[in-house]
Amino acid sequence: MQNSIFSVDVEDWFHILDDPSVPTIDQWPSLPSRVERNFSKLLEIFSERNVQVTCFFLGWVAEHFPHLVKEAAERGHEVASHGYGHRLVYEQSREEFYQDVRRARLLLEDISGVEVVGYRAPGFSTTGDTPWFFEALAEAGYQYDSSVFPAQRGHGGMPHGRRDPHRVGEGDSLLEVPITVVDLLGWPMCFFGGGYLRLFPYWLIRRMAHQVLAEGRPVVFYIHPREIDPAHPRLPMSRKRRFKSYVNLEIMESKVRRILRDFPLTTFKNVISTYPHLVNTHVA
Ligand SMILES: [Zn+2]
Repeated sequence: MQNSIFSVDVEDWFHILDDPSVPTIDQWPSLPSRVERNFSKLLEIFSERNVQVTCFFLGWVAEHFPHLVKEAAERGHEVASHGYGHRLVYEQSREEFYQDVRRARLLLEDISGVEVVGYRAPGFSTTGDTPWFFEALAEAGYQYDSSVFPAQRGHGGMPHGRRDPHRVGEGDSLLEVPITVVDLLGWPMCFFGGGYLRLFPYWLIRRMAHQVLAEGRPVVFYIHPREIDPAHPRLPMSRKRRFKSYVNLEIMESKVRRILRDFPLTTFKNVISTYPHLVNTHVA
């Protein structure tokens, strides 16, 4: 079976987007953090299976808990960037976005001592409204992106986006590895992260993952540390948002363990290196 990708967006329980109840960045330091405990537990689970994954660290989290970045790097995981301040791409100007992602990359490289080449946007919030996105990322020193969500979703999404890894930007300066979408009864859906990964039964997730692999694409799994922590504090959001954010948290750890057991998994960097025609020859 070809390798798939496992990724973690390393952020805390209050890093939810686009709801009036979400705390602002100046409130974050006073909130009871859970990311240390939850991410450390994930690292233990990965080590038990001897799996290396890609960790998209939020810059703010890295700054407050630098030992988590060092620990991930020491265990052979890929250190990548989730930006600094967890802001939706389409709510920033090009310059604000560039400064945010550059700051995060430099910070993560400083802490880890390794080159950081990958980025994932908060909420997969790159849309047709931010045509400068890929070029700004390349300018900020990134080599690949995993922010395109080629289906409908709350924070944007690109319903007609390509599903396979491909080059983008001016002069094909960046490699895009989209979030994995597959059709079920004619509907493009992502079963491999977020609410649907928690909601759907494991047998369906496994079946859909095999369908993606049969189409010749790697599956991109993604989770957040808060998702294996059913006891984390809840935000007073609408009923619909609470369901989406908190459904089935108590079964996620066992689901993650089953994914790690059933699929050969590795980092973005490793999978990208198996696509020689996609590796950017302009970048040493
Ligand atoms: Zn996030």
